Amino acid sequence: MRTEALTARDAARAAAILRQGGLVGIPTETVYGLGANGLDPDAVGRIFAAKGRPQDNPLILHIPSADWLERYCEDIPPSAYALAERFWPGPLTMILKRRPVVPDAVTAGLDTVGMRCPAHPVCRAILEAADIPVAAPSGNTSGRPSPTTAGHMWEDMEGKIDAIVDGGPCTVGVESTIVDLTCTPPRLLRPGGITLEQLEEALGEVAVDPAVTRPMGAGEKPRAPGMKYRHYAPRAPVTVVAGDPAGSARYILDNAAPEDGIICFDEFASLFPGHYVERLGPSGDKGEQARHIFDALRAFDDTPVKAIWAQCPEAAGMGLAVANRLNKAAGFHIVQAE
Ligand code: AMP
Ligand code: MG
Repeated sequence: MRTEALTARDAARAAAILRQGGLVGIPTETVYGLGANGLDPDAVGRIFAAKGRPQDNPLILHIPSADWLERYCEDIPPSAYALAERFWPGPLTMILKRRPVVPDAVTAGLDTVGMRCPAHPVCRAILEAADIPVAAPSGNTSGRPSPTTAGHMWEDMEGKIDAIVDGGPCTVGVESTIVDLTCTPPRLLRPGGITLEQLEEALGEVAVDPAVTRPMGAGEKPRAPGMKYRHYAPRAPVTVVAGDPAGSARYILDNAAPEDGIICFDEFASLFPGHYVERLGPSGDKGEQARHIFDALRAFDDTPVKAIWAQCPEAAGMGLAVANRLNKAAGFHIVQAE
């Protein structure tokens, strides 16, 4: 299949491909998504084939406004509207009870569905022109780091999907926050572009699923099916070095072999001459770190490095999402500096 290169001006073309059952790489503020008509089980099935995604890992339905929630969800709690009012359009996905109209292919047979209203202007133009809910996971090959540029999408999806829309680099850089509103208290399943602190401000108590901060135990049943899969991983194994930035930099300096790759905060990059170095951003700027994390992980696949050492922010604010992606990329192989 020849993949069409589309731009921000081609929202109508992208929408037409989606309405015809095709697959489109779509820019969003979080990461690039691989979209299909969320009401067409065959089209949705092609997402799983293109990504090599396990069938039991459900997708998120993207809608142009909160008014569409009732079409696809029932027993919607007032908290959903409170969150929509505050954070939509934006990087927040709510898990709600689904209506039967949502195909099993989208929800992997669950009685819940993930709903998101994205903020990216090109994504919104596509959703509005298509006038259908668009089912989309991240647009990477299953297991690889999520795409945050159109170029990343071409790397993984050229020849496998109908079109890729270039909407520029993603401004958030990590996937949406997922909060389950079908339980009490609401539960954070995936940290992302909306912080836990912001959710707590809006909702009061929020439980954090244990899988956010530690690996799933054998035989444990994940709340979000995606939690159990290997994620975001470059080819070379990653070791996350936790601790204050000066301490973790020192630890990496003492332990990295000359041919190892380094992911570090900008201030420490000059400590590692001769290494392949990917800068995460300043140690004090977690938003910048979120924008760079997937590109940094992906970059090592074009190098000969056999092992990667990574500095990691503390798990507050956006740091919780950055640390979660790094820890998952490392298969939770984490060492403590000092
Ligand atoms: P991705 O954006 O590639 O991570 O894919 C969508 C994410 O949403 C995956 O982590 C899924 O496990 C999660 N997800 C989608 N629908 C549900 C649902 N009904 N319940 C829990 N998690 C969900
Ligand atoms: Mg994904």
